[in-house]
Parts: sequence; C-alpha cells; structure tokens
Amino acid sequence: MTAAPATKGLIQLRDVRKSFGGTEVLKGIDLTVEPGEVVAILGPSGSGKSTLLRTINHLEKVDGGTIAVDGELVGYAVRGGRLHELREHEILRQRTHIGMVFQNFNLFPHLTALENIVEAPVYAQKKDKAQARERGLELLRRVGLEDRADAYPRQLSGGQQQRVAIARALALDPKVVLFDEPTSALDPELVGEVLDVIRALASSGTTLVIVTHEMGFARDVADRVVFMDEGRVVEQGTPTQIFGDPRHERTRTFLSKVI
Ligand code: ADP
Ligand code: MG
Repeated sequence: MTAAPATKGLIQLRDVRKSFGGTEVLKGIDLTVEPGEVVAILGPSGSGKSTLLRTINHLEKVDGGTIAVDGELVGYAVRGGRLHELREHEILRQRTHIGMVFQNFNLFPHLTALENIVEAPVYAQKKDKAQARERGLELLRRVGLEDRADAYPRQLSGGQQQRVAIARALALDPKVVLFDEPTSALDPELVGEVLDVIRALASSGTTLVIVTHEMGFARDVADRVVFMDEGRVVEQGTPTQIFGDPRHERTRTFLSKVI
C-alpha cells in the first residue's frame, strides 16, 4: 500500500494488484473513469475482469495500489499521512455509492421485486418506507416492470429478474453502476430487453462500467473500451479504435474469435 491517494476522475485505480494464493490476477491496473462515462471492459475468461469490478466496491481487498471513487479512497482513509483501513460500517457506507449488477441477478428469492428494491434504502440507509416504495415503483417503471412489483423472482423470466436487479442497483442513487456480464446467463431472446435498459441508463448520463461479451453492444454504447488480458490492461480506446484498429496482437486475436 502506498500512501499517495489517487483521487482524479470519478473512479481512479492506481497500480491495483490482487493475488489469490500466490497467483497474481491483477498485475498493476491503472484505470480512470470520468463522470458520465460508459466504459466497457472486454477480455478472455480468467483475465481478471470480475476481480477488478469487485475491488472497486471492496468485495475484494487489494494487495497493492489504491482505488478512489469520487475522491474517496475505497476501504482506506488517509490519516496523519498514512493509509488506514476503514471499519466495516464505513465500507458499507462507501458501497452505497456503487451499484453492482451480477451475472446471476442475485435477487433475494423470498422478497418480491419491489421488496428487493426497497431493502437497502430502508434497512441500510434508513429511508422512509413509503417514500422508498414510491421510488421503487418509479424504478420498476423505468425498467418496464411496474406491473410485476409483487412478483417473486421465481415468477419472473431471467430478463425480468435482471431488470429488477438493475432497478435495485439504482435505488441507492449510486455514483456509478458496475455490471459484470449482465446478459451472460440469459437465454438469447432475453438479452435485448436487458441491453435496452442499460442503453437507456447510459444515455441518461449515469456512469457505467460494464464487463461484457456483447461486442455489438459495447461498440454502440461505450465511450471507451478497455481490453484486459492476464491481469493487465492491454489497451484502451474508443470503440472505433479498438474494434477497427486494435494495436496489440492479443486484442486482435481476442476480437477475431468473438466477433
Ligand atoms: P474474469 O472475470 O475475467 O473471467 P476473474 O476475475 O473471475 O476473471 O478471475 C481471474 C483469475 O482469478 C482466475 O484465474 C480465477 O480463477 C482467479 N480467481 C478469481 N476469484 C478467485 C478466488 N476467490 N479465489 C481464488 N482464485 C480466484
Ligand atoms: Mg468474470
């Protein structure tokens, strides 16, 4: 851990390193995401994409480097010129600024769609219950599911569950929403409805970081594409540059296999 905090951009990663059992899976990641930017992260399986997203909301603790969200170091505070680990409640507070959408939706099975959405605002943020429900219904409208508020996850299709998960991620008014392969677990005919919701979010100015294998979507929606391989950012650029004129052989090989 270095003492120099990194605070530029909405999200800033500086030399982020992470190992599992002696194997380094993030080998010094530098990445900046500006407010309102939509960043797509591409890369082969095992390249560290999920681990990278998980470090941003401190679901994984880094072994080296720093991560800052909106000027605040994630998991650490600078006191007396040194880095100190935050306590659990402070980490939970930081996490409310970061929405996360997982591949497998991760909805609470025993709660309805609306209850899934209001859970965190009411119990973590102590928001007024009636107001949280009102806002939850508004979010369900936004993802096209206002008529399914009282449905349980098992009564919803995968696409609908993922749209509820997106509404849930938005319920805390996060500064950024992280998506980890949000459509990978879906039947092909359900992918479009989820991508449409993410596309609408992107054009509303929400800052998004999206790990995806949907190349057409990344090309259309992302402001910037980041290609990762073996725990490193190999290259990044506009979709036009990365898809049209990749500089690195590894990027070219990867794209030739997936497109
Ligand atoms: P990606 O999302 O790009 O497929 P991951 O971040 O999931 O890659 O994984 C990167 C590497 O780290 C892989 O080799 C994976 O097996 C390993 N890994 C991820 N999470 C853990 C963990 N909790 N324990 C041990 N190894 C892990
Ligand atoms: Mg992954």
